[in-house]
Amino acid sequence: MIDVTLLGVSALAPLPDRALTAVMLACAGRRILFDCGEGTQSAARKAGVNALGADIIALTHYHGDHTFGLPGLMQTMLSMNRAQPLTLVGPAGLREAMAPILALAGNLPYDVRLLELPTGGLRLRDVDPRWPEAARLAAFPTEHRVVSQGYAFTLGRAGKFMPERAKALGVPVRLWSLLQKGEPALFDGRVVRPEEVLGPPRRGLKVVFSGDTAACPALEAAARDADLFICEGTYGENGQEALALDHGHMTFAQAGKLAAAANARRLWLCHYSQMIQDPEEYAANARAFFPEAVCGQDGMAMTLKFEE
Ligand SMILES: [Zn+2]
Ligand SMILES: [Zn+2]
Repeated sequence: MIDVTLLGVSALAPLPDRALTAVMLACAGRRILFDCGEGTQSAARKAGVNALGADIIALTHYHGDHTFGLPGLMQTMLSMNRAQPLTLVGPAGLREAMAPILALAGNLPYDVRLLELPTGGLRLRDVDPRWPEAARLAAFPTEHRVVSQGYAFTLGRAGKFMPERAKALGVPVRLWSLLQKGEPALFDGRVVRPEEVLGPPRRGLKVVFSGDTAACPALEAAARDADLFICEGTYGENGQEALALDHGHMTFAQAGKLAAAANARRLWLCHYSQMIQDPEEYAANARAFFPEAVCGQDGMAMTLKFEE
């Protein structure tokens, strides 16, 4: 199960009813915050989401509207006596970009770890053993005016457990749940691997966040079959494609087209320019390509569950 909450949908500057773009993802009690612009703390409060409990903050790029909330959030974490480490993830240049932010945050009693994701992504259990075995975070390069990346969070799902096979292999019943979770069972000096007692892997869950980007093949590839694709739509009107490309952004229509090409299941638009007063006015431009496109709003949330 994955809970996703859109904390804000504004580009560049916060508006009275629109916080800067940030997304919270929670799974099995662990949390990833994607981007952290000014005001993310209060947006999280409003949405009833625990940003202070974030284990990982994954930045798409280092523009201020995606990062200036960090020192404040890190200070509040301090005042709440946080002890657990905080992992900051971002594209190339993370150390340099975080130096002034960490200087502002001051002396923190908890560890701050900086992590550039390896190609192919990372098994989150390697960051913290409390993540589910099958949870992964991967980054993909995007096309913005500065070095940037989007993120794909996936929760794999093991195949169906076959008790008759476990019995035949002599696995004690108390170890069955380990195998069901995709972990090996050790007993009597033997190891039984999950694939020995599980059917073929089933469809898992995938959430993709574009960050700031022009439409690009890497984004389409990353969004392939996503259960939820959260995509920027900085410009609403058709005909603003050249403007969007110039600034490393997308229009609603481009987001809809890309979501359809990627066969995504759901599309939430976000990161609206201040030219857009009511995103619904332009929703048809995205829906012409992706009929179920949703205009994201602050606080919009959903729970993704495995199919039966
Ligand atoms: Zn932005
Ligand atoms: Zn940007």
